Amino acid sequence: MPETPSSESKAAKGKPYPAAANEGRSRNMRANRRTDTKPEVTLRKELYRLGYRYRKDRPIVLDQVRVRPDIVFPGRKVAVFVDGCFWHVCPEHGRQPTSNEWYWTPKLRRNVDRDRLVTDALEEAGWHVVRIWEHVPLPEAVLAVEEAIT
Ligand SMILES: [Zn+2]
Repeated sequence: MPETPSSESKAAKGKPYPAAANEGRSRNMRANRRTDTKPEVTLRKELYRLGYRYRKDRPIVLDQVRVRPDIVFPGRKVAVFVDGCFWHVCPEHGRQPTSNEWYWTPKLRRNVDRDRLVTDALEEAGWHVVRIWEHVPLPEAVLAVEEAIT
């Protein structure tokens, strides 16, 4: 006789965590996950389709920092970052968060500082750094990478 799903597991599936304050915000938070965010996946797929071969999330160890660019061309020493507009404070969409400012503002400032540090450290070590905002249209993003690797 086949086992029927227990009512216990159904209940657990029903409400694992308290609901997010609103759906828009929780969708936004998901979209801002650090790795494999959509724009960087889309860019990787397109580069692959065009025949470019790269390393994904390959760590680069420098004197001051250890960085993990989204896309790396080790032979050409090209490191590509796709920066989320919110987390990396893009000039067009990166606005100061209005809620929990005590937490977010220093965090965002640290992100921006770290981005600068990482870019400087890579360039000092002879890398070409390409930073692409997540809002940049795909053809433009591809072009930026192509310009760096050719
Ligand atoms: Zn943006």
